[in-house]
Amino acid sequence: MVSFIEERPKNNAAGQNMVSDPKSAQKPPAPPGFISISRKKLLQNLEINAGARVNSWVDSMRASSPTHMKSAPSIADDQGSWNLNHPSALDMFGQIIDASKGKQIVMFLDYDGTLSPIVADPDRAFMSKKMRKTVRKLAKCFPTAIVSGRCRDKVYNFVKLAELYYAGSHGMDIKGPEKGSKSNKDAESVLFQPASEFLPMIDEVYKQLVETTKSTPGAKVENNKFCLSVHFRCVDEKVIKENSKSQIIKLCYHHLIKWSELAQQVKSVLKDYPKLRLTQGRKVLEIRPTIKWDKGKALEFLLESLGFANCTDVFPVYIGDDRTDEDAFKILRDRGQGFGILVSKFPKDTNASYSLQEPDEVMDFLRRLVEWKELSLRAQSRM
Ligand SMILES: [Mg+2]
Repeated sequence: MVSFIEERPKNNAAGQNMVSDPKSAQKPPAPPGFISISRKKLLQNLEINAGARVNSWVDSMRASSPTHMKSAPSIADDQGSWNLNHPSALDMFGQIIDASKGKQIVMFLDYDGTLSPIVADPDRAFMSKKMRKTVRKLAKCFPTAIVSGRCRDKVYNFVKLAELYYAGSHGMDIKGPEKGSKSNKDAESVLFQPASEFLPMIDEVYKQLVETTKSTPGAKVENNKFCLSVHFRCVDEKVIKENSKSQIIKLCYHHLIKWSELAQQVKSVLKDYPKLRLTQGRKVLEIRPTIKWDKGKALEFLLESLGFANCTDVFPVYIGDDRTDEDAFKILRDRGQGFGILVSKFPKDTNASYSLQEPDEVMDFLRRLVEWKELSLRAQSRM
């Protein structure tokens, strides 16, 4: 059965805007060329499978579009209370360092939206040179892993740092740092690929999805080897940008209809593949094997590989912006070791302890960690 992970942000500021706002949703005028559809019908149309809570799904799709959230009137109130529970990791830097004293810090970094900004074309989600330089320095100070939904090769081509651990395809394709020279590719050894038996099926579904989603302009299917991503960040984005605030309510309906169509297209392909499941990320629908493996499991596997399986003196720090990063945040919370940092400008339901607003702040945080480590090493060498 195709399952769909339902997550409803408790403090979803966007929920007070757009279609869930009773005042604005009562009589949405249909703009020329747009389909007029009631909220009820729209939600029926959006139903993913029997019993699915489509409201949550619509909310979460909407929540993944920050363009809309900026206009929410009560965002400041929500932001204030959320910040109290998830303070800035930059503001709390001193406390974080104190908590890590005597422990080995291990860094886990998501890529999209964490090290690189979310851009319209996922193939152009480049990280800045400054960020690369910072991550290189970070890896000299602490074991560092990139954990991404993208396939390992693709994320490696963005990051281009051989000294890191990489967990691609949501942790289903894990490899340690290259040993020896960069040109000696044979020396690379894959540490772990728990879903290799799914490869032929995923290739087959990729071809079908490319064909099926052709009719939705802006939809982009990406083959991440062990999982597939259907990006909807381009679906109708420019329509929103080119119109005034007064038209956004109308346009949002159009938006949701397009997203709904895309979700139905994906669902129609997946109905024949019960061993694959559908989940939702930030402006992306993701198809993965049903095996119990996620970014949290990848984090545990990497800690074990690094020799910290049953250690109490390890301090893992995971930074990510996506729902799929929540599995890793939760593992850290459950283990009571280290903490998660959510990258978000907006209140979101999260298991992370701290927050950073955007990749630039992530870079500042990583720089401060490097500076702190270098200073403490220098102090040690003087003793
Ligand atoms: Mg991300």
